[in-house]
Amino acid sequence: MSQLDLSTKPAATVTSSELSASALHDKCLAIASNLWWTWQPEVNNLFRDIDPIRWRQLDHNPIALLRELSPERLAQRASEMVLYSRINHAFRQLKEYTANKQTWGATHAGVLGARPVAYFSAEFGIHESLPIYSGGLGVLSGDHIKSASGLGVPLVAVGLFYDQGYFRQRLDEAGYQVEEYQDTKVENLPIEPAISSDGKPIMVSLQTRQETLLAKVWKMLVGRVELYLLDCDVEGNSPQDRHLTSRLYGGDERTRIRQELVLGVGGVRALRALGITPGAYHLNEGHSAFGPLEVVRQSMQDEAHSFDHALRETAQRTVFTTHTPVPAGHDRFDGDLVEEHLGPLRDELGISYEQLMGLGRVEPQNEHESFCMTVVGLKLSRRANAVSSLHGHVSRRMWAHLWPWRVEEEIPIGHITNGVHVPSWLAWQMRQLYDRILPANWIQRMGEAEVWQHIQNVDPGELWETHNALKNLLLVFTRRRLSRQSRRRGESDAAVDAARNVLDPNILTIGFGRRFATYKRANLLFQDLDRLCALLHDSERPIQLIFAGKAHPKDEPGKKLIQEIANSRHNPRFNDRIVFIEDYDVNVCRHMIQGVDVWLNNPRRPLEASGTSGQKVVLNGGLNLSILDGWWAEAYNGENGFAIGNGTQHVSDEITDQRDAENLYNVLEGTVIPMFYDRDDDGLPKAWIQRMMNSIGTLAWRFSAHRMLMDYARTCYVPAAGGLSCDMNFR
Ligand SMILES: *Cc1c(COP(=O)(O)O)cnc(C)c1O
Repeated sequence: MSQLDLSTKPAATVTSSELSASALHDKCLAIASNLWWTWQPEVNNLFRDIDPIRWRQLDHNPIALLRELSPERLAQRASEMVLYSRINHAFRQLKEYTANKQTWGATHAGVLGARPVAYFSAEFGIHESLPIYSGGLGVLSGDHIKSASGLGVPLVAVGLFYDQGYFRQRLDEAGYQVEEYQDTKVENLPIEPAISSDGKPIMVSLQTRQETLLAKVWKMLVGRVELYLLDCDVEGNSPQDRHLTSRLYGGDERTRIRQELVLGVGGVRALRALGITPGAYHLNEGHSAFGPLEVVRQSMQDEAHSFDHALRETAQRTVFTTHTPVPAGHDRFDGDLVEEHLGPLRDELGISYEQLMGLGRVEPQNEHESFCMTVVGLKLSRRANAVSSLHGHVSRRMWAHLWPWRVEEEIPIGHITNGVHVPSWLAWQMRQLYDRILPANWIQRMGEAEVWQHIQNVDPGELWETHNALKNLLLVFTRRRLSRQSRRRGESDAAVDAARNVLDPNILTIGFGRRFATYKRANLLFQDLDRLCALLHDSERPIQLIFAGKAHPKDEPGKKLIQEIANSRHNPRFNDRIVFIEDYDVNVCRHMIQGVDVWLNNPRRPLEASGTSGQKVVLNGGLNLSILDGWWAEAYNGENGFAIGNGTQHVSDEITDQRDAENLYNVLEGTVIPMFYDRDDDGLPKAWIQRMMNSIGTLAWRFSAHRMLMDYARTCYVPAAGGLSCDMNFR
């Protein structure tokens, strides 16, 4: 409220409470405008307490919530719920956090101070209210920048703004996946137009052989990190191109290469318009690998370098991370698509069509080879890495022919294993427990092994009770979702009622939440139905299963699998011991990983590059039961979870699947189930709780995004930016 407003009103109505009401509303909006709040449990609880039901209905979006509430209504709620001091406290904390310069990054990555890392990713999974991610890759990017913020590693992030995001999943009466896209309301998001160094909203323009593509740029704050998102929905673009960035991974090859042009080349131009000069570039997966070509162009233009010289310099500053262990998973484009979209840039670089295509080919002269984004990423970077130790081996083998003169061990692709952002995935109740058990500043030091040793001092009964409280919350959540699903599908009142009462808190609960790609084998446990039914219905020691996950819209077999599993609820043989929660997203994932006893992961080895959901489970006291693939191959030590099989695979998928299923049944019957139900006089499963402690103590720090960021900073970012070199434990 401006002063003018005040002076025109009769003095009697201008009460101090009215003034503070709008100030209070502004303060709440200021807190909601930095995504820092998403990993502060107290601030989450604060927003929830303003209106718990709307909070849930609005996907936990505080801006949408606040926009519905008049300042007066908010002030009224604040006094009813005693929120004033909590709001002031949160506001102060955010201020202190963003102002604090004494960070790990300031000490260990000082060279990046004036020239930050530019981190490129096609998706960012930060929170459920911001649907610009599809799955693991996006959530990893979100966790990466949150930890960069926490550690104070100077970093700016670049991505695309999808106004329809990724689809929401609904199952029809037949249990078949239907994809629904919703328009995001920009006014409900914590974004604003990015402003250039000369004070105007930034507009990036990209020349193709056919037309000029335009993109505006949004800015978002994720703690201390700025995230810039390019958006093609602007006047001046053709109606079709205005939808270019509407959906994540929507459309055909042409849409894809155009999106990747905007992300890579457009992203580099946006940074320049912002006046940001990156010291290093990090390409998270190949989608942004056109970006370095624009860096080369700028360097040729600014410093009058030759193409070759500029290329060497750019590669020195570029870090590339590959995520895909399957050859078919890498983006490839035909020559004419590349020429149409990169042609004008190629002219400026002064290179021929053949030279450009050669950069994306394993054999530069081979005209039959298409342009591969991973190949160009590898060629334009001096440091490249896979995302787990095993994936490092697979990647070196897969790309060995790029360096035919080297033996496999010397292929220059290392690994940095993925990790998760602890404060985002740790349940509030568990955090309270850690606050009592771990050293006082553990939240700053969560990437250090020593900090987590202290978990051995926890009272087993307390750990068990905390876990069970979280398990109950998961069951409440599951029942609510299932009854809603059931009602929406028009099922009988009896069916809706039954959904309200499914699952039993005393039964061993196994969760499986992930993309329904066939290699992840969601149905492995269904290989032998008699054996599965015996496990589900054992009179003394039964199990129950919670599934969730989306299939890619074009993945028919994946959708069939969902149908098979979702419909098993109505199969009398299973009798409600198997349920499927629709619309797997960050929120569903969070509930599942916080509440399960066991997290099941049974991909066909070695196709899971890393996997991160199991790392989230560790933090909350669940135990992993997994094939020795991805991160688990290096995490499992015999006593901190359970392994399925011993890490071998057969050339025949059919035989591999049979053996893995057999091993899965065996470990469930022989180890997991007996250990869970073996109770002492106090009703505690002593051996199980010991395993929970082993899991937290040995894994939480190693598979944290803080550890991951420290690895990237020390071994990639700092040397790429010209700081003191530190040898990578590449392998
Ligand atoms: C953590 C997470 C993932 C990644 O899990 P995986 O182990 O790679 O399957 C995927 N989707 C969501 C919503 C997540 O939160």
